[in-house]
Amino acid sequence: MGKPLNALLSLHDVMPETLDRVEEILRLLRKNRLSPCTLLVVPGKDWSPTDLARLEAWAKEGWLLAAHGWKHKADRIQGGYHRFHSMVLSRDVAEHLERDSKGILALMARSGQWFVENGFSRPRLYVPPAWALGFLRGPDRSAVPFPMVETLTGVIRFNGRQRRQRRLPLCGYEADTRARARFLHCFNASQRLLARSSGRPLRISIHPDDLSLHMGERLRSDLHRPLVPLSYEYAVPA
Ligand SMILES: [Zn+2]
Repeated sequence: MGKPLNALLSLHDVMPETLDRVEEILRLLRKNRLSPCTLLVVPGKDWSPTDLARLEAWAKEGWLLAAHGWKHKADRIQGGYHRFHSMVLSRDVAEHLERDSKGILALMARSGQWFVENGFSRPRLYVPPAWALGFLRGPDRSAVPFPMVETLTGVIRFNGRQRRQRRLPLCGYEADTRARARFLHCFNASQRLLARSSGRPLRISIHPDDLSLHMGERLRSDLHRPLVPLSYEYAVPA
């Protein structure tokens, strides 16, 4: 079995239409005593009072909330990089990539504000859809309205003008084809090795459909291995 691995667990795309699947994954996490896990909430959706009450109950139970984009969908796909990113990684979810630096900051601010307006505490972590932050101009980097941002490569901690980035291994399970499952299987194994050899926490990112896709059984067994879940606050020391 080996020594327990430090892990940063996150559950992506928490929005009105995924809440039942989110609950199913939370059940699995509770069973394996895997808390904390951070729920990545998409604010710009049609949240009913009942949906908000479910989210509130989860927050009270101790699951951490983070902001995850605004609508989680790009309005249009622009430019070669965005097209490439949307093909290989994010399909059409990288809503940051169609915005300029000021537009990205405005979207992030709006996303964080939603939590406060709906009676939640302001999240400390922001995760752009598909981990694609987009391009922030130098002066705008000190105006990022969250202390921590997760990207594909790791976690950035913003502290006034200072910015510290820590590269962190990442595992994913969103495999809608067999080819993708094979790829993720090898990729995850390499990331797990990297976590062991570097002593860095392993990011385990879960999506609402994962249990019913090709990596579902793999996810169940990986969550059964000895893990020490940490909050993102420990990912990059302040
Ligand atoms: Zn997402």
